[in-house]
Amino acid sequence: MSVEIRKYDVVIVGAGLAGCAAARECQMAGLKTVVLTKVHPLRSHSGAAQGGINAALNEADTTSHEFDTVKGSDYLGDQDAIELMCQKAPETIRWLEKMGAVFSRNEDGSIAQRPFGGQSQPRACFAKDRTGLICLQTIYEQAHRAGVEFLDEWYVGDLVYDNATSKVNGVVACNLRDTQFAIFNAKVVMFATGGYGRTYKINSNAHANTGDGLSIVARHGLPLEDMEFVQFHPSGLAGSGVLMSEAARGEGGHLLNSNGERFMSKYAPEKMELASRDVVSRGIEREIMEGRGVGEKKDAVYLDVRHLGEEKIMERLPELRDLALAFLGQDMAKEPIMIRATAHYSMGGIPTDINCHVKKNPTETVTGFYAAGECACVSVHGANRLGANSVLEAVLFGRHAGENIVKDIEAIAMVDVDESSADKFMKEVDWVIATNGSERVPALRAYLQETMTENAGVFRDEARLAKQKEIIKEIRKRYQNIRIDDSSRLFNTDMQEAIELGHMIDYAAFIVEGALARKESRGAQYREDYQSRDDANFLYHTYATMDGEGNISLDKGAVSIGKFQPEARTY
Ligand SMILES: Cc1cc2nc3c(=O)[nH]c(=O)nc-3n(C[C@H](O)[C@H](O)[C@H](O)COP(=O)(O)OP(=O)(O)OC[C@H]3O[C@@H](n4cnc5c(N)ncnc54)[C@H](O)[C@@H]3O)c2cc1C
Repeated sequence: MSVEIRKYDVVIVGAGLAGCAAARECQMAGLKTVVLTKVHPLRSHSGAAQGGINAALNEADTTSHEFDTVKGSDYLGDQDAIELMCQKAPETIRWLEKMGAVFSRNEDGSIAQRPFGGQSQPRACFAKDRTGLICLQTIYEQAHRAGVEFLDEWYVGDLVYDNATSKVNGVVACNLRDTQFAIFNAKVVMFATGGYGRTYKINSNAHANTGDGLSIVARHGLPLEDMEFVQFHPSGLAGSGVLMSEAARGEGGHLLNSNGERFMSKYAPEKMELASRDVVSRGIEREIMEGRGVGEKKDAVYLDVRHLGEEKIMERLPELRDLALAFLGQDMAKEPIMIRATAHYSMGGIPTDINCHVKKNPTETVTGFYAAGECACVSVHGANRLGANSVLEAVLFGRHAGENIVKDIEAIAMVDVDESSADKFMKEVDWVIATNGSERVPALRAYLQETMTENAGVFRDEARLAKQKEIIKEIRKRYQNIRIDDSSRLFNTDMQEAIELGHMIDYAAFIVEGALARKESRGAQYREDYQSRDDANFLYHTYATMDGEGNISLDKGAVSIGKFQPEARTY
């Protein structure tokens, strides 16, 4: 089969906030830019962000935003990147407004801001509880207007990377409509492929969040950073994990156990329900483990917002009320609803420097390769992200990546590639369609998700992590023996899901290996066998690489410490 080779200045993979923001910058500077996305841009997970986007609109508050972020990160966040983010946040809100995003207002017309966990001031700007959707619609629209080419329902399966020159020259993709392959040959590639929450059974993520970008990068022997840090959000709807935004607690919601106690008084006496996410998630899971859960299986706790009154609920949390009604049949205006911790956000990812250049090791970068948004680890979140800092990160660093591409591109060579660059991905797809084993993809995926939740979830220890490492090896082996039902080349979603499962297996191994090696508790990583943070031995970023057999080696990268020296973290 012949493979078409298309030429661009810039190829961006992912049409969420980060991809769209970068694409607009590039196109506005006259670069020929294409965005490839496996779902329609407006179905990117960014559109599901409910609660808000942080900014210290009162600029006297900027240092405090920095401090809250550093503290929230459990001192693992890189303070140079955090400083950049917090200082540019107010300008980012104004930029969004000028582009047409409409934020909720106070009576006096100023932008309203709500409190979010782990923050000393109300800083989350919001558009009711549809913040991500409003921002995404706005930036997508403006990128379109600037002339960016969007190719949706294109699946990117490989990177064209020349290891010898350490330069990225494009990507290999297939059109999901007919499984036609094409090489997108470009001077610059940017990954904005989003998060990897789908590797857990209870999660808040879109079905598309299978972490493809990370595994694609890792399969070229490039490192992934801090993969052990997976954030569990305190409030997913019981059963499904669908998110009840932190806005519900920000607006004043209470968490109650089966005795009707506001149990957070035991775990975070000062901040209560608004302590940082790792702290609240552990509080909830601890109550459930100790038998004070609610519901038939006693595997949930209550979130109670009734005291806010129906009017405020309808004004500030209409989407959440609808979700609880649709998924649980519970009306939050009339009764407490059932929630539990849900896998939500990936702090780790493709390592980048502060200007979004992808790193090939802790100190050197790859030429012509950028990443931003949730798939990247510029490390503004360190070991734990604060609510409403990640829509900010995606928009701000997406734009920043675009600006840096524009700055750098003149010095970057266009290296022509030939059809053979597509061989690896074409073989992978052909194998998935033709292979005739006995393992079924949905069952294998469910096994991975269930065991990751059990063994590499909110509470971790050596024995369970070691067990999970073996389970992943077993799943990797069984994956070689899969079979799918659909052998056609038209919208073959069986094929896509099988390829995605391959990616999930790869990056799940990184999560487990990083968690095993980090014999301490920091931010989202909680080891029952090592319950305190250990700065003397573990104040570093994990850099992990994978060999052809799926074995992972670990290296260390320095944390950038600025104004704030590590200290105890209490809420
Ligand atoms: C339910 C929910 C609520 C949230 N609420 C908030 C909030 O209130 N505030 C906050 O700050 N953060 C929130 N977050 C987090 C935040 O929304 C995300 O981290 C952020 O929007 C990610 O943006 P992104 O551009 O990096 O990726 P995404 O928006 O996830 O986009 C990823 C893109 O990559 C594409 N892609 C992936 N793999 C491939 C492939 N192989 N081929 C082609 N395309 C591919 C997808 O099609 C998609 O377009 C929330 C997250 C969730 C899940």
